[in-house]
Amino acid sequence: MESTDIKVYEFELFKKDKTVVHGIFTRAGGTSKGAFDSLNIGINSGDEQSAIANNRKLIIRKMGMKPLVFLNQVHGDDIKVLKKDDNDLSEMFEPGKETYMADGIITDMKDVFLVIQVADCQAVMLYDPQKKVIANIHTGWQGSIKNIIGNCLDKMVLEFGCRPENIMAGISPSLGPCCSEFINYKDEIPQNLWEYKLKDKDYFDFWKMSADQLMEKGVKKDHIENMEICTKCTKEVFYSYRGEKTTGRFACVISMS
Ligand SMILES: [Zn+2]
Repeated sequence: MESTDIKVYEFELFKKDKTVVHGIFTRAGGTSKGAFDSLNIGINSGDEQSAIANNRKLIIRKMGMKPLVFLNQVHGDDIKVLKKDDNDLSEMFEPGKETYMADGIITDMKDVFLVIQVADCQAVMLYDPQKKVIANIHTGWQGSIKNIIGNCLDKMVLEFGCRPENIMAGISPSLGPCCSEFINYKDEIPQNLWEYKLKDKDYFDFWKMSADQLMEKGVKKDHIENMEICTKCTKEVFYSYRGEKTTGRFACVISMS
């Protein structure tokens, strides 16, 4: 019954290509209660583990029967590279485990779903239709100032021979410039990034920063899609850490058929 209420947002750019399979889940259609209502997948959110496990199963049911690969996201800039010829895969995807400590993951494998969990941070999904390579990145302000996006693109080039001009990028619902207040920005954000501060306000445009980081590496402007949905402004649809403090994490999932 619950699964019928599940809603999935998609990037128009990715929908054009049948190879890429992806979805941005909302908070609707899961089994978690209270502040976590209801499709929470974050095991460190404080929610009941049984509800989270159920929610993860609902996502598999919706997306297709492949293992979900979760990351232990630590606001760093490490990228996990998962290649077809890697072995011991069955052990790696033990359900309910965050398999790798990293904030981004790249693969050329078709039989896994790469999952990023967010509540204000951005999930940035990348897809190279030529090389058939996908990536999923978690970037909050800490990942953004470390330029994890640039790091991930460098790895796609190095490890898979991707060309940035072929890569498609999608930026998930996340904290918009309308709500990204950083009162301590002088301590937290390096001066070379203050160009992203709004005029007369201590608010930052991390959406623009991500687009610029993609384009700096050669991703074309018309290959970048930002849903431009602010999670804090739509906290009844998505989880928002800033909007709620105690809250869940919604799922951003990508794979290839
Ligand atoms: Zn907002």
